[in-house]
Amino acid sequence: MRGVAAGKGAIRMMSGKQAGAIDVHTHMYLPSYMDVLRKRTEIPRVIMVQGQDRLVILPGEDAEITTATGRPIGREYWDIKAKLQYMDKHGIEKSIVSLANPWLDFLTGDPAASVAQELNDELQGICENSNGRILGMATLSVRNPAAAVKEIRRLKSLSHIRGIILGTPGAGSGLDHSNCRDMLMAIEDSGLPIFLHPHYGVGVEHFTDSGHALFLALGFPMETTICVSRMITSGAMDKMPNLKLLVAHAGAALPSLIGRLDSCVEHDIHIADRLQHKPTDYLKRMYFDAISYSTPAMEHLIKIVGDDRIMFGTDNPFFPPSGVPADKVCEHKWPSTTKVWTTLDELGGDTRGRIVRDNAIRIFGI
Ligand code: URA
Ligand code: ZN
Repeated sequence: MRGVAAGKGAIRMMSGKQAGAIDVHTHMYLPSYMDVLRKRTEIPRVIMVQGQDRLVILPGEDAEITTATGRPIGREYWDIKAKLQYMDKHGIEKSIVSLANPWLDFLTGDPAASVAQELNDELQGICENSNGRILGMATLSVRNPAAAVKEIRRLKSLSHIRGIILGTPGAGSGLDHSNCRDMLMAIEDSGLPIFLHPHYGVGVEHFTDSGHALFLALGFPMETTICVSRMITSGAMDKMPNLKLLVAHAGAALPSLIGRLDSCVEHDIHIADRLQHKPTDYLKRMYFDAISYSTPAMEHLIKIVGDDRIMFGTDNPFFPPSGVPADKVCEHKWPSTTKVWTTLDELGGDTRGRIVRDNAIRIFGI
């Protein structure tokens, strides 16, 4: 790896080879998915404004077609060479790449099924040509759950696929809804971890005049928090005890609210009686990325779940360096990524090593 140390001592020597971080939360809009988004006339879509691609994906973002619509994007969103360049600059040896939101939530029927297959094959091909640097998380046709079950079985033949990314709505009514049960059971059976990721935000009505800031800072994590809480309180986690859930953004608000969730469940006999455990116990069997941008927040998460369930993540290509033109961001260090490294450097010692690399090797079988 032509790496440059990103955090203090980000790279260490292993059997003569330089070894860096394993990034479990890193996205791409794969080239064929970009084609799908470019052809669309409704959100989610990619539009060209004054020679600049703009990604219009968040709810309500398509209200006006001006340069205020969406966000400018460059090749860091879809080009694997840009991903590798970014990895080299930030001490990342391997990335487990997932399609970025909103995945295939907007497709139904046969198109959903065939695009899912095409994307998973495309990602497998990218991995095969990456000299061991790239692994993948599959995408499913969640609005065609029967086809999704077939695709989960087919994933066994895609050697570089190590997980599955899912949004919180599942087939439209929430991941805990019975219409997702066969899909989740097939995933449980496959042994592949689910990477649970937000897209829609909750409380959107409170975020006027705040750009993307409150939507991403509050709406995203609350969406994840509600989804995981429902997976627990509905009894889904009891029914699928071997389901592996990797919760985005350091567990969102769950580490802070888990004591309250325990208490509120305990005081609702109807809910408490249908669960085998208290909510904290389910949280302790989930996995988390390290994207909190806060050392105290990481310490708190570690106190609750331990340091052997948390893995390095970046959310690349989101949160690029501010004020840098879209076609230049790949040449820069990304402060958002440096911040993740800083929190891990501050944790230090064995904990840092586990989160940066060792946990991912064990959990994703690398
Ligand atoms: N913005 C997005 O749309 N998705 C992410 O994952 C992060 C920021
Ligand atoms: Zn993300």
